[in-house]
Amino acid sequence: MIIRLLLITALLGTWPAWSQSLQYHFAAPNAVHHEAIIQLTARQLPAGPALFRMSRSSPGRYATHEFGKNIYNLKAIDTAGNPLPLKRIGADEYEISGHSGTVKLQYTLYANHADGTYALVDPAGLHLNMPACFGWIKGLENAPITLRFALPDSSWQIATQLFATTDRFTFTAPNLQYFMDAPVKAGTLRFRSWQVNNPDGTQQEIRIAFDTEATDAQLNAFTEKVKKITSEAAAVFGEYPAFETGRYTFLASLNPYVQGDGMEHRNSTMITMPVPPGMIDYALGTFAHEFFHAWNVERIRPASLEPFSFEKSNVSEALWVAEGFTQYYGSLLETRAALQDEKGWLASLAACINAKQHRPGGRHYNVIENSQHAVFSDAGVSIDRTNTDNIFSSYYMTGAAMALAMDLDLHNLFGKSLDDFMRALWLQHGKTGIPYTMQDLQDVLAVVSGDTAYAAAFFRDYVYSNQLFDYSTALQPAGIMLRPREPGKAWLGPNRLEEREGGLMVSGNTIAGTPLYLGGIDRGDILLRADETNLSTEEALNGWLNQKRPGNKVRLHFSHRGQEKWAEVTLQASPDILLEKMPSPNENQRSLLTQWLGPRSR
Ligand SMILES: [Zn+2]
Repeated sequence: MIIRLLLITALLGTWPAWSQSLQYHFAAPNAVHHEAIIQLTARQLPAGPALFRMSRSSPGRYATHEFGKNIYNLKAIDTAGNPLPLKRIGADEYEISGHSGTVKLQYTLYANHADGTYALVDPAGLHLNMPACFGWIKGLENAPITLRFALPDSSWQIATQLFATTDRFTFTAPNLQYFMDAPVKAGTLRFRSWQVNNPDGTQQEIRIAFDTEATDAQLNAFTEKVKKITSEAAAVFGEYPAFETGRYTFLASLNPYVQGDGMEHRNSTMITMPVPPGMIDYALGTFAHEFFHAWNVERIRPASLEPFSFEKSNVSEALWVAEGFTQYYGSLLETRAALQDEKGWLASLAACINAKQHRPGGRHYNVIENSQHAVFSDAGVSIDRTNTDNIFSSYYMTGAAMALAMDLDLHNLFGKSLDDFMRALWLQHGKTGIPYTMQDLQDVLAVVSGDTAYAAAFFRDYVYSNQLFDYSTALQPAGIMLRPREPGKAWLGPNRLEEREGGLMVSGNTIAGTPLYLGGIDRGDILLRADETNLSTEEALNGWLNQKRPGNKVRLHFSHRGQEKWAEVTLQASPDILLEKMPSPNENQRSLLTQWLGPRSR
């Protein structure tokens, strides 16, 4: 019966009238002003008022977003076309009463921001992140969904991970979770696709839907590079995931009309990079990162994100793995695919170590706390000032620093690698669909290393608390050394300064532990003189700093709300490090590095 129903559905692209369903119709008659008209027919509603709502969260984004602000002219009618009473009961919620099981809604959507979170309706094409566009009826989260497009231009192509039907303008989703995770691009798209094989004999397709002005030759060359990345990613796990539609789609907007972003989904990713045609290779790192997510976070899934709520922010303690390990592999896959040189790879690792060890947010807050802070930092919406610079360091970077630490330990202590850990995690929690907890991660590390005490100590020291990992020692076997980034150079802190009349205004929070902070200087203060040197320009400040050394005591004159003050400040050296290959590595060091960075795929 179920098989038959699915067959009918697949053929007709609709659902039988006797079951609960959500049916959307999308038209954009006023695309020139970025408006769309969305109609929703909800069937088989239970008796009593129906609740229609817009989302406040979007899969892969952890802060809240009030998507309800961009819909208006909401109307509700019954099957006979009679208006139904509609009452707004919350910012994004509307109550519809008086229906007899079927409600038809219509609203206008304004969409003019193309990235991974929001949407764009434009005469040149559609770019739809679903929670930003489509409201739903509460209680019908498990109802099947159809979506039909009336496109401004019928020659446009549509790319999405939604299920196709025999009508090329109509798509389906089995439920709301899948639908909201399935962004859509429509327009003059150019496709590139290739087949990939899994060890079990199954064949699937990977395709890129390009929205770009790059030439065909540029797209061909770019596609070859993406192919290398996707095979290197699959080589880590030993196989591609089973994509439910039999295919994975990169929705790639590489044009100046989008905001820079990359957003992972189960069988697709939305990549938006405002790069000119000749510079599309800048997007390769994002392609690597997002494709790695097809395993790590889309299928190897933290229990804290299940089920994903569209109504509130989704707090997770595991983003240091979901995003951080993905960040680590993004750069590693590019290197294994020979698309990034060792220098670029070392710079990416140094940035992660600096974020973890040399920023107060990384040093004083652990990776769980950094992960949980995502709800306030991941494209968050508040406008007031926060102390983010002192209490948070990106879970992408600090998580990648943990991935590096775990990879080094597995190499140095157990003759294994992080690839072994990822593959074990895939088999236990990805392929099986069993979401993981922190304890599960620790258990997998215990199995992969064969050392329960080591795994417990790693989590105790670096995950639940905040000990500093000794990267300097751990990198030596690979012939890599840590060096101060600016040895002997005097430094006031990593501060943002703006030239103002008479001085330099501190335009961001000063960072705890740095000379300016310790000198009692804060955001908004204006630096006037250093000893007897006038600080009218950044050049003047740098010239003065160049004559000083870390440890020198100096007198800084500054103005706070118009009142002149002075502080005695001890100059420091920047704590930041960089990584370099040792000048003459031995045989073992060379071989470990080759093993680490060499291609895995055949
Ligand atoms: Zn990511």
